[in-house]
Amino acid sequence: MLITVKGLVLKERAYGENDKLLDILTDSMGLITVSAKGVKKANAKNSSVAQMFCYANYCISESKGRYILNSAEPIRIFYDIRLDVERFALASYFCELLLYTSTYEQSGEVLRLILNTLHFLEDKNKEPKLLKSIFELRLMSEIGLVPNLIGCCECLTYSAPQMQFDLKGGKIYCENCCGARDLRTFEVIDETLLHAIRYIALTDMERLFSFKLSQDYLEMLNVITERYIKLQLDKHFSTLVFYKTITNGKNYE
Ligand SMILES: [Zn+2]
Repeated sequence: MLITVKGLVLKERAYGENDKLLDILTDSMGLITVSAKGVKKANAKNSSVAQMFCYANYCISESKGRYILNSAEPIRIFYDIRLDVERFALASYFCELLLYTSTYEQSGEVLRLILNTLHFLEDKNKEPKLLKSIFELRLMSEIGLVPNLIGCCECLTYSAPQMQFDLKGGKIYCENCCGARDLRTFEVIDETLLHAIRYIALTDMERLFSFKLSQDYLEMLNVITERYIKLQLDKHFSTLVFYKTITNGKNYE
C-alpha cells in the first residue's frame, strides 16, 4: 500500500551500510519512522530528502507496520541551518523536544509551528533566543500543557505590576493571593513578561512571530520558558545542554 504524506525529518540514523532510519513528523500520521534504503550510496536518488530538516512530500509503502521510503518531492530543505552551529544546535533541540512530546496529544499545528520556526531561524532576521522562547512555550500550548493565563488563579486579577508565575502548577498568582508559598518553582513576572507569555501561548499562528522584546526581557523570558518546559516535562534534553555550551557567555549586540 502506498501512502503520501507531507513531513519534516526530525532525526536521521544510520542503519546498516547504506540505509537510514528517518523520524518524520507528518501532517496526517503524527510521528513515523521510515526506512530509507540505499540513501547513503553515492548519487542515491533519495539522498537529499533523507536528511534532517528536510520538508517534503513523502511517498511511502507500508508493509506489516513498517514504512519504507519509495520516493519524495522536496518542498523545502532548511539547509542553511546546518551552516551555523548556534542555529543548528537550537534546531536540534526543537527536534528533540518534538520527538519527546510526540506521545502527547498533538494538534495539527505542531508541524506548522516547527516549519515557521525553522523558516525564521534560517532567515536570520529574528533573534534565536526569541525563537527559542516562542517555540518552547507554544509547543507546550499545542500539546495541551498551556498555562492558565486568564488572570490570578484565585481572584482573577488580569494584570498587576508584579505577579507570580507558578511554573509547575501552570498558573499565575497576584502578590496578594500568592502568600507564603514555596517559591522555588515560581518566577516573578511584570506586565511586559505577562503580555509576552500570553501572546505566545494564545495568539493566532499567523501573528505568533510578529513581536519584539528588548534584550533584557528576552533573557528573562528565556529563563521562564526553559524552566516551564523542564518542570512540566521533567526531562533532560542533551541538545539543550549543547546549545547552552555554544551560547554561554556570548554577547548579543
Ligand atoms: Zn489574586
